[in-house]
Amino acid sequence: MADDTAEDPRNWDVATRLIRGGLMRSPIGETAEALYLTQSFVYDSAEGADARFAGTDPGFIYSRYGNPTVSMFEQRLALLEGAEGCRGTASGMAAVHLALTGLLRAGDHVVAGRALFGSCRWILNNWGPRYGIEATFVDGPDLDAWKAAVRPNTKVFFLETPANPLLEICDIAAISAIAREAGAKVVVDNVFATPIFQKPLQLGADVVVYSATKHIDGQGRVMGGAVLGANALLDEFYRDFIRHTGPSLSPFNAWVLLKGLETLDLRVRRQSDTAAELADLIAAHAKVKQVRYPGRKDHPQHAIAQRQMTGGGNAMAGGGSLVAFDLGTQAAAFRFLNRLELLDISNNLGDAKSMATHPSTTTHRAMTEEQRLEIGLTAGWVRVSFGLESPRDLARDIQRALDAA
Ligand SMILES: *Cc1c(COP(=O)(O)O)cnc(C)c1O
Repeated sequence: MADDTAEDPRNWDVATRLIRGGLMRSPIGETAEALYLTQSFVYDSAEGADARFAGTDPGFIYSRYGNPTVSMFEQRLALLEGAEGCRGTASGMAAVHLALTGLLRAGDHVVAGRALFGSCRWILNNWGPRYGIEATFVDGPDLDAWKAAVRPNTKVFFLETPANPLLEICDIAAISAIAREAGAKVVVDNVFATPIFQKPLQLGADVVVYSATKHIDGQGRVMGGAVLGANALLDEFYRDFIRHTGPSLSPFNAWVLLKGLETLDLRVRRQSDTAAELADLIAAHAKVKQVRYPGRKDHPQHAIAQRQMTGGGNAMAGGGSLVAFDLGTQAAAFRFLNRLELLDISNNLGDAKSMATHPSTTTHRAMTEEQRLEIGLTAGWVRVSFGLESPRDLARDIQRALDAA
């Protein structure tokens, strides 16, 4: 029987949500979340199977539709996000693809911020047109550009903030207001901000997507993703698509991500503190032309970052774990990367291990030179994802590499 006096988990603070949210113990009474490695489920009777399929008994049917370990992950992340519902996916890109195509059909139009994760741009540039879906890319911080791009058939606004790789900030509340007037839904890729620092649904977005591969795992192990929003929206636009096309999250990966969520708040705060400290050190170096960090006053959209990267009232503000900086030339950027001893050269981010990448030759090499220039990405830029090593050791490594640049 339900306990009427039990506290609503939505009253819990973030730390409690991350440890206790969605926990569903089996009759065995295990301490840690159980890993249900099972494809399907069995029924007590033919009538029981009938009821399950009819939806009158809400139990599990098949792990492509839902799985108890995946469900624990979804509930925990939804509780953190302050979302009614969540659907786990096999990767971040499965989440982005699901989020967009579930809302769109042939003849529809998307307005998107120009600075996007490479594969997100590919979906809109190369995949959408095959199904008669067109996209217009705008300068994310330019609200007039979003307004001007709206057409009668605009159904979705898609944006990433802070955006990859130069950490440009879009004003989620202002853009959501424009979308609402246009009758379009807003999908926000919230990977760089993490659910610890930014709550797009509270700012007016309809759908939030994550690559759980990044900070949510945070320890370089598994791929995963998630789509969050109101239950009615998830049911209407995504439920059947997930059931019948199978972007489902593996229970094993969900279990790893559940354990990742337990320490997300601690890790992301520490990573963000380190990034803030080292962004200042990087900015002070003579070889550095420009540094981009949302928490610094010289960030072009610092005021917006301060307003929206607050953790939605549940947490303290933070600028995130990524810093970008310009060393002027590709040769200087390569000298910097090759001199690093502690930081790895890797295109990944959000990991416990600090990593540095040269976006124009790696993550953003599929873009044309002209497209790169449109987002301000020249060959001197380096992007660093700060991990959990000692800030002092990281500072020494970066100082040495900057001297060599
Ligand atoms: C990594 C990433 C994705 C894609 O996620 P995968 O888990 O690699 O599929 C999408 N958006 C952003 C901003 C990312 O950083």
